[in-house]
Amino acid sequence: MNLYIGVDLGGTDIKGGVVTSEGEIVFEKTISTEAREGVSHVMDRIAGLVRDLSNAVKEDGKVQSVGIGAPGQIDSRTHVMRNAPNLPGWHNVEVLPQMEERLNMKIVWDNDARLAALGEFSFGAGRGCSEMMMVTLGTGVGSGLIINGEIYRGSIGSAGEFGHTTIDPGGPQCGCGRRGCIEAYAGIKGVLRIARGILNTGKKSLLHEINWDLLSPKDISVAAEKGDKVAIKVFQEVGFYLGVGLANVATLLNLERFVIGGGVSRAGEFLLEPTRESLKKHAIETAWEAVKVMPAELGNQAGVIGAAKLAMKI
Ligand SMILES: [Zn+2]
Repeated sequence: MNLYIGVDLGGTDIKGGVVTSEGEIVFEKTISTEAREGVSHVMDRIAGLVRDLSNAVKEDGKVQSVGIGAPGQIDSRTHVMRNAPNLPGWHNVEVLPQMEERLNMKIVWDNDARLAALGEFSFGAGRGCSEMMMVTLGTGVGSGLIINGEIYRGSIGSAGEFGHTTIDPGGPQCGCGRRGCIEAYAGIKGVLRIARGILNTGKKSLLHEINWDLLSPKDISVAAEKGDKVAIKVFQEVGFYLGVGLANVATLLNLERFVIGGGVSRAGEFLLEPTRESLKKHAIETAWEAVKVMPAELGNQAGVIGAAKLAMKI
């Protein structure tokens, strides 16, 4: 059996999985990143994880190649990591030669959100379509574009930064330093800002029982499931802004599917329904008619599966 290893490198954890050519994970392991120890240490940890995974399945088949998803901007011409906000020291790092030296295997790598999109496109909610964007709503808003059945990287590899497209230049501050980006509404901080704004009006809500400093999107979706009107309103507002952003993308690119994942998307239809309404209102008719907004299917395994899928291509 041909097997592939997918690695999802994050600021806190490194997730790894051995994946079949059908996209099934046969063995997986997660270790801590220890990002503060620096670039070389993290590379050693990735290499150790890959060796462990490879050893664990050696009776089932041979690992053909390794794909790595990393949280940063990778120059698609040189494969150099230009910048990674959650990985101290990862600035203009040539990762591939250093990893190949450690592992003596074929290795490919790309941005993590883009590989999650490739995972969903190949084995999840994007199966059967050829034009899609996956949006991951977490602390940041990541996204990956699939155009004509292939990952779209842009001229130097920075395409797909949907989270930092502007929908209101005078809007709230975003983590990137600019104002009114999608992330400032649909990333975790944005969702909590909207929630506090509605709670501040004094409306009755289950959310008043939770310390506002500890409030999470999960608390809000649990409250929405119990019928809490304030919680439902929070997702209506988040969905409105997300829908404006998606309407712009749909109008520009005439995609078939938007696949929505990440922690905030746990709210399911509480979020997706207002998103669809707003998309319909703000996109041209031919664009919204063609596009479906769907929940992601692979959960937090999308990154590992997508990284392995990239490895299958070499
Ligand atoms: Zn931004």
